[in-house]
Amino acid sequence: MISVTDKKNCCGCTACVNACPVSCIKMERDSEGFLYPQVNTDLCINCGKCDKVCPLLNKTDLPFPEKAFILRNNDAQTVKTSTSGGAVSVFASKIISGGGVVFGGAFGKNYYVEHRRAETEEELKMFKSSKYVQCDPRDSFAEVKRELSSGRLVMFTGTPCQVAGLKSYLSKPFDNLFTVDFVCRAVPSPKAWDRYREFSEQKYGSKLSYACFREKTYGYHSSNMSLRFENGKKYLGNTHTDPYLKSFFDGMNIRPSCFDCAFRQAGRVSDLTVFDCWNITRYVPSVKDDDKGYTACFVQSKKGEEMLNKCSGDLTKYSADAELLVKHCGHMAVQNPKPHPKRAEFFEMLGENQPIDTIINKLSPVQTKHRVFDKLKPVLYRTGLLKLVK
Ligand SMILES: Cc1cc2nc3c(=O)[nH]c(=O)nc-3n(C[C@H](O)[C@H](O)[C@H](O)COP(=O)(O)OP(=O)(O)OC[C@H]3O[C@@H](n4cnc5c(N)ncnc54)[C@H](O)[C@@H]3O)c2cc1C
Repeated sequence: MISVTDKKNCCGCTACVNACPVSCIKMERDSEGFLYPQVNTDLCINCGKCDKVCPLLNKTDLPFPEKAFILRNNDAQTVKTSTSGGAVSVFASKIISGGGVVFGGAFGKNYYVEHRRAETEEELKMFKSSKYVQCDPRDSFAEVKRELSSGRLVMFTGTPCQVAGLKSYLSKPFDNLFTVDFVCRAVPSPKAWDRYREFSEQKYGSKLSYACFREKTYGYHSSNMSLRFENGKKYLGNTHTDPYLKSFFDGMNIRPSCFDCAFRQAGRVSDLTVFDCWNITRYVPSVKDDDKGYTACFVQSKKGEEMLNKCSGDLTKYSADAELLVKHCGHMAVQNPKPHPKRAEFFEMLGENQPIDTIINKLSPVQTKHRVFDKLKPVLYRTGLLKLVK
């Protein structure tokens, strides 16, 4: 029977919940806002299926990917509204045009981040761009299985642990399943995100109408948290000044299992692994980086390679050295983030309903140089000096 005695040993993927034949496992939120399985022992029949599908209890070492590419969606507007090169949107469109269904991380009610399904090009738009919050898979694993069993083409995108959890739950390979994961620094707490949203809505006196964690307002290399409100007000903040992003990159608001991630290796069970390519010129000297963003990609399977070939009309593709990519861009594929020494205080203060900017000002204050730089950014960007300063 699944039992989480050390929170480092559960990534919250829901494989156990879905595998339980008597539905005696439910995901429940802990005080930090992360979901963990809770077993109703009165109903449990001790079949052991939950342990069998747990991707952390059954992890495997995978070979280092042999092939890697740097990709960009040929549609400039999609690149602008995606995290890096908008490559994931091309794969998803291919699945939709083949009559398939796509599952990915999207905003639900009150900007709650959850796995949703898309069956049209219009619906696919909700997946664009990274949401730096742990995405709730809800009942997507079971839905994926139903669709696969009916013979339909299915694409699933998620964190490495979610894709590993899904595959473990499915327990057999499906030719009609295509999976994409990403190099994942870590997943922040949905409670921290919710508190940040509430704090921002209060500060700007209006409901949130748009949120993007990586808007390319000042280019790809200076992407920002961007919020817009129903009253027309706007907010932009970067990794050094925005309290939510700061708590993410400082290692405060993230899930315990991410500090010792079982899936942190370049080889994955997915078909393709995507991540940020920060400087294409390093890998493809003939291409000058235009600060719009490129997606780096590891090919993890034959199916992944076939997908890249099928998408060649919609993607610009350069081959790259996988080891070099890990070294300079995808180091989070192999290197765990460190917990902030005041992580426990962060969650304590969050539990006391203290505003997130008060918490950050106390535990990890924004440096004056970063505040000044943030204020000067629009001018530096307009005059072309931003690149030089960075
Ligand atoms: C929590 C998180 C951490 C990341 N950490 C890193 C990192 O350390 N280094 C790095 O190089 N890249 C990281 N990435 C990946 C990177 O941000 C881009 O997603 C990647 O470069 C692909 O970009 P794209 O423009 O091709 O696609 P995008 O437009 O970014 O599409 C990405 C896909 O990811 C899905 N998605 C978005 N948010 C979530 C979520 N919270 N959970 C599950 N699925 C989601 C969407 O549904 C979409 O299908 C991270 C992404 C996330 C969500």
